[in-house]
Amino acid sequence: MNNPKINRTIGYIILFIGFFLFYKGFKPVGVSDNIADADFVLLALSVAFLVGSTVWMIKKVRCPHCNKLLHLKLYNIDVCPHCGKSTDPDEK
Ligand SMILES: [Zn+2]
Repeated sequence: MNNPKINRTIGYIILFIGFFLFYKGFKPVGVSDNIADADFVLLALSVAFLVGSTVWMIKKVRCPHCNKLLHLKLYNIDVCPHCGKSTDPDEK
């Protein structure tokens, strides 16, 4: 599968899992304001997800025609801003 729009959505899902784990890591069972109570395993895992999603998007959100990086923000990427072709890999 090499559809940049789907790959970007997958990247965002991984990113949000990372944010969720980050939040859970800071607020372990019960609510505590003490930083020492943070769950560092979850925090490390969340950082891995955040970095992983960034790497994934940089590698996968690319134009199927010219292979240049497309917008990672929520801009419309139906048409490649570099070569002007549709980013749908089924469309020639
Ligand atoms: Zn292109």
